[in-house]
Amino acid sequence: MINNAITKVWSSWVDYDPPINVKVYLKTDYNYPRLAEYVIIVLVDGARPDIIDKVEDEGFGFLKKEGVLFSNAYGLSPTYSIPARAAISTGLPHEISGVTSNWYKKGVLNMPSMFSLVKSYGLKTGAIGDSSISMLFEDYLDTYIEIPETSGHMKKSTEEAVKIITSGELPNILWVGFADVDEVGHDHGALSSRYEEAIAEASQLIMKIIETLKMRRIDDKTVLVVLSDHGHLDQGGHGGDELEVRIPY
Ligand SMILES: [Zn+2]
Repeated sequence: MINNAITKVWSSWVDYDPPINVKVYLKTDYNYPRLAEYVIIVLVDGARPDIIDKVEDEGFGFLKKEGVLFSNAYGLSPTYSIPARAAISTGLPHEISGVTSNWYKKGVLNMPSMFSLVKSYGLKTGAIGDSSISMLFEDYLDTYIEIPETSGHMKKSTEEAVKIITSGELPNILWVGFADVDEVGHDHGALSSRYEEAIAEASQLIMKIIETLKMRRIDDKTVLVVLSDHGHLDQGGHGGDELEVRIPY
């Protein structure tokens, strides 16, 4: 009986159908001046800011010194990865995007997102990383390179990003996903030395992307956004409302 009720509550959340048709409410004909030729978004899955502060070198250190740090950002609840990708890309809460859990299976989001907006201007879009971004946005991606979530994921993602930048074929918006920090967080917890090492490696790889942009002399035409989707508990794990998982980097 109780199990039945729990299953019902669970599926009503996972299969939740948003009552609002966002397409009706959002216009897509914005006419703002373009501030940058290229935007690269690096999503370091599961990176927690206090641990990044401990590492502070290479890419993270460079961006803190040269860039803008948003220290008052909060992830939405539940703090899962796939709803966070939808929220980051559409600017909409889970209840409106309809992506309420990692068990989302309804396919491409038919609502304005940074990918659909960029495409509507005749510009190019691309993504490198795990399959969740292609599941949500594949109709709006000109280039998609899938990197399976095995070890060395962020290294492979960076290699592909460097290849694209060097080839001169950089899309106007490029999503680059790093999976390893989250995996290590789940296995060893946020206070482990393994987690710290994974963040340090992510930081080095971000620096590699920055150096490649400089080498191609497009660093002053590019906005590089580095963020995470949620943090990790001290002992590892996320999904709840605890502050250390709601404050992503
Ligand atoms: Zn995540």
